[in-house]
Amino acid sequence: MSQQPRIIDMDTNRQGSNNPLSGLPSTSKVLESERAQALIEKHGQKAISDLTRETLQVIRDNIRSMEASQISLDIIITTLESKAKKLGDTLRPVINATGVILHTNLGRAPLSEDTRAAMADVTEGYSNLEYDVTTGSRGSRFSHLQSIIQRLTGAEDSIVLNNNAGAVLATLAAICKDGEVIVSRGQLVEIGGGFRVPDVMSQSGAQLKEVGTTNRTRAADYESGISDKTKALMRVHPSNFLISGFTEETSLREIVKVGHEHNLPVIDDIGSGALLDLRPYGLKPEPLLSECIDDGADLVLASGDKLIGGPQAGLIIGKSTLIDTIRKHPLTRVLRPDKATIAGIAATLKHYALDEATEKIPIWQMISMNESILQQRAQRFAEAWGSSAQVVTGKSTVGGGSLPGQTLTTRLCAISLSQQKLELVSKELRASELSIISKIQDGVLQLDPRTVLIDQDIQVVNTLEKISKGMK
Ligand SMILES: *Cc1c(COP(=O)(O)O)cnc(C)c1O
Repeated sequence: MSQQPRIIDMDTNRQGSNNPLSGLPSTSKVLESERAQALIEKHGQKAISDLTRETLQVIRDNIRSMEASQISLDIIITTLESKAKKLGDTLRPVINATGVILHTNLGRAPLSEDTRAAMADVTEGYSNLEYDVTTGSRGSRFSHLQSIIQRLTGAEDSIVLNNNAGAVLATLAAICKDGEVIVSRGQLVEIGGGFRVPDVMSQSGAQLKEVGTTNRTRAADYESGISDKTKALMRVHPSNFLISGFTEETSLREIVKVGHEHNLPVIDDIGSGALLDLRPYGLKPEPLLSECIDDGADLVLASGDKLIGGPQAGLIIGKSTLIDTIRKHPLTRVLRPDKATIAGIAATLKHYALDEATEKIPIWQMISMNESILQQRAQRFAEAWGSSAQVVTGKSTVGGGSLPGQTLTTRLCAISLSQQKLELVSKELRASELSIISKIQDGVLQLDPRTVLIDQDIQVVNTLEKISKGMK
């Protein structure tokens, strides 16, 4: 016996047995069902009624190719449920199985539990964002992060804006407008997402003066670039870009020496800006904020959501006189962060102050995750998929424009199938309830457990089992 879908409603469109529409459930019949009622509760009556009418119309328009009597209420509601999932919220969580820790397209740093709680807490009601509770008078939103940043970096003063691109723009506009900024030619890079150092500079009203060559810039090159128009020397971290071979960049200390001999400030845009040493994890060191301050940089700029591992923000730390100038500039008003960002950065920084960053901050948990745990997790994924999957050694990357060419050894669940099938699986993983983003490389589909949050493993396992079963 063939298994025909159950026909639930036949009370509409009954205009004779040869009418192809007969047997199609009506809008009201669909809406009455328990499952549709659950959708209505979640998304509202109007959205679900509209969606039902739309769905039934599509079926009616295509009815010639099928028998209405074969379209059960079950099928219609299942379609409705999957469409309802996409209603309204285009921005939603996904599972990152790519092994790129700071994946810019996937939202960079996931936040610690305490950070999320602090952001939720401060946004629930009112806060003392710009209010001094002791005196009952106006306060400054920039004051909340000053002391913790000073404690962690040794910088005299700081200001936090919406992102680092904004921090660069505001800094140059406030400090260097109508003057020249000297930058090494090897550092005039596009960082991705359209952040081009020269473009940002021209928007700030500062003139760029390139010195040295693409692969070599010496202290003497900075020296020779200085004129009475010079307002600052700047170092820009080349981030996702690696110049190798016959290269030479001047150290920050040397740039500072040249700058200070001419009474010029040195601005250091370090991009990722770490607060922890990466060397224990077999990675090359990234500039530490404290180290750049120690080396004499007058202003150090870094992103909040790269290696700091917090929400999107741009930190400007350094000399009080310069920070004061930036604080008063109109662009600082334009780029000021909201209360959630300030609370989130504060909570993230607190993990460093309490010496618990590697346990509490997700990106540091990922960076420091040991290989036996990765092995076990990849093994679970592979077992969920079945015989065409195995665990192999592979490479995770830090991403986010940090550590170009640097990798962390990981374990991957690698699925071997024809290219066509791999693409199908990758698509189904993306279409699953919590979209799982994987990578196809070297003829296999790879899932790196390092960037999957541990409590998402179960979802990956269930989805792999389901897709694998469906393909048999
Ligand atoms: C990433 C990066 C930026 C831009 O920072 P956002 O926080 O993404 O705005 C600027 N400069 C450098 C060197 C970077 O690596």
